[in-house]
This record gives sequence, structure tokens and C-alpha cells, in this order.
Amino acid sequence: MAPSSRSPHRALPPATPSLRAPVAALVIILLGACGGWRRTQEFDGWTLYEMPGAAIEAAAFEAAFSPALDAVQAELGEFKNSVAVHAWDGSVRITDHGREHVQASEDQGVHEVPGIGPARIQAYHARGGAFSKAGVFIGAPDAGTAVHELVHARLAEDDPNLPLWFEEGVASILGDGALYEGRWVADGLACWPLRELREENLSHDDIERLIAIQSTDHVSVRDNVLVHFLGWAVVFDFYRETGSMNYREWLAELDGGERVNEIHRRMQSTLNPATEKAWIRRLGDSDPGVRMATAKGLWKLRSRVVLDKLVHAMRLEVDPQVRAGLAINALAAAGEISISWKHWRYVREVVEQALEGVVMQDPQEQAALSKLMRSYSNQGEEQIALDALRGLSRFWQE
Ligand SMILES: [Zn+2]
Repeated sequence: MAPSSRSPHRALPPATPSLRAPVAALVIILLGACGGWRRTQEFDGWTLYEMPGAAIEAAAFEAAFSPALDAVQAELGEFKNSVAVHAWDGSVRITDHGREHVQASEDQGVHEVPGIGPARIQAYHARGGAFSKAGVFIGAPDAGTAVHELVHARLAEDDPNLPLWFEEGVASILGDGALYEGRWVADGLACWPLRELREENLSHDDIERLIAIQSTDHVSVRDNVLVHFLGWAVVFDFYRETGSMNYREWLAELDGGERVNEIHRRMQSTLNPATEKAWIRRLGDSDPGVRMATAKGLWKLRSRVVLDKLVHAMRLEVDPQVRAGLAINALAAAGEISISWKHWRYVREVVEQALEGVVMQDPQEQAALSKLMRSYSNQGEEQIALDALRGLSRFWQE
């Protein structure tokens, strides 16, 4: 399962009125678990099944899944079987205390998670059974979500008995990153769990409870999300220490009597503010894909230091796509924190320079970018700016 937080709160810094999400029509898009999927296209290593009546762009799913499949195989080895990918347009609603997943419209898929806020579940992987199909179920063609679910699919082939929290951690690390010129570049620093876990302050007992949860257990959406967060933090600590995905070695290391203490220690180590301080140096990496993947999502940390780093990196950045990524994340970051109008004018000036001459290959993204820039030159066009940001989610949404 791949939960994600929602869009930036504001597209402009304070002093403009806050806004409310529009109340859209609540329409559940049909479907019972056992029927209706239409097999539409065969790709190398996976097959696309579409929900009848859903507006699916097969090319968009191909653009997400082909690099995702390559990335997962490079880290975890070749798939033994072709993966069935079930696509519709919407998200996932969890029912029955976290056991059942149903396909839903976008709005039905937003869960209000106590203490965490709204979370949307974008996809899940099912191992299949007597009455259900196996494969990936995904409501939007997002490459990071595709990577996350393909990690589950691959691990189900080779390592079906991994602890749930740990498996979610591996999936969350590899699924965090960015598409750069058709290649999935994993980053691993997932900013939503980082911020939330700092606020949660999980105790030894909480951790003991969360790591005992299995995929077949009935748990709340909140626990479900926390299992992902905890797994991410612990696996991230191993990942940055070793720079690779030798997850079996990590599990072996956790196999002693002090298991819970060790998990707690590793989580705390990730939550230390030094983590993003060190990680953000990757904005100066020689690979533009790494710079792009690093920038993506940083706005979620709601940090002034991070905003300054993004603005600084933007001034130096030579790659237009990465510059756009930095600019969009800086705008989103500025919308999340309180900054003075003087500071805001400066950020806007650097963003305008950074985006000058940037051309997006995707005409819809180009239109969104132009709209975004126009909205910043006028007061009171916050809604327009937020809409425009939505059209550029590839750059900021993780
Ligand atoms: Zn998952």
C-alpha cells in the first residue's frame, strides 16, 4: 500500500486568505473485487488491465511502469512472473479496519487519519487468493507509487515472509524519488514520514506494537500509516549507512534480543535534524537526476533552512528541468511557512529567473507552469496557483 500526504496548504505565503478544498461530487466508481477488469495491453514484464468505464491513458501508465520496473529489478533482481497492473482513475478506500481495499473515486480515497491529517491511499498490491486477483491496483499513473507497489510484488516472489513494517520501509525508500528523462532515480528521504514521526514521538511500547502488525491483521488506517512511517525511518537509517539495498543483512542485524531498542535507536537516528542537513547536500550532486529527486518533496519539512537551500541551489542550477523542480518546491515551501513579504519578493524574483526559458516537454505541464508564473504576478490568485501546482505534481509530490 502506498499512502501519500496531500498537496501544499497554500501556494502563496500568508497574508492571503486560506482556502478550502472544493467539495467535489462523491462518486464511487463501481467494482466488486472479482470482476470486470479488461486486459488491454501487454508490456515487457507486466500487463495492463483497465477498469471498464475508467478514463485510462495506457501511455501514461507505460511511462510510469516501465522505468519503475527497471528500477525495482536493478535493486531487487528480475521478476519471475509478469506483473498484472490493474488501473483506474481514483484512489483506494480502506474498509473493515484496514483489511479490505476498494477502488474509489479520488475524494472517497481521502482518509482523515487522527493526529496525522488527510492521507490518500493511491494503490496497493494483492497477493491474490481464491476470490481475488493478484497484482498491483493503482488509481493514477505515478512512477513512485508504481515502484512502491512493484517492490511488494517482487518481494512476494522471493521473500514472502518479511515483517510488514520492514517491507513497507523498503518499498517507501525505493518509491521515493523522481523521474528524470525517463529514468527512476530513487532518493529515499521521504519528507512526510520524517515530519510526522518527529511529532509522533513513538515510544518503545508503540514500536513493539507496530512491528508486530501483520498484513492480515485488522488495524486502523492510522496504525497502517504508522507502520509505513516507522518502516521507512528504520530502513532509511540502514540505507544511508550502506548506500545499497542489502535488506537481508539488515534484518539479520535486527535479529537479536534487543530488537525493539535497536529499531527505536535507528528510528531516532533518522529523525535527528542532522539527517536532512546532510542529505540536502545531494542538491549539489553531479547527476541531475539525483538533484531533482533530492529537491522533490523537501517543501514538506516546513523549514526555513530548507527553503534557503532550495533558493540557493536554484541560483546555481544549470539543468532547466532541475531548476524547475527546485523552483516549484521552493514555492510550495514558501507557502508552508511564515516568511516576510520582503523575503517572499526575493524568493519570487529568484524563481522567475530560474523559470525563464524553461520548456516542459509535456504541453499540459507547460500550460501549468505558465499559469503558475502568471498567478504570482497578481494578488489574490491563490486558487489559480494551487491548480497550476497540481498540474506539476511530478516535481513536488512524493
Ligand atoms: Zn506498501
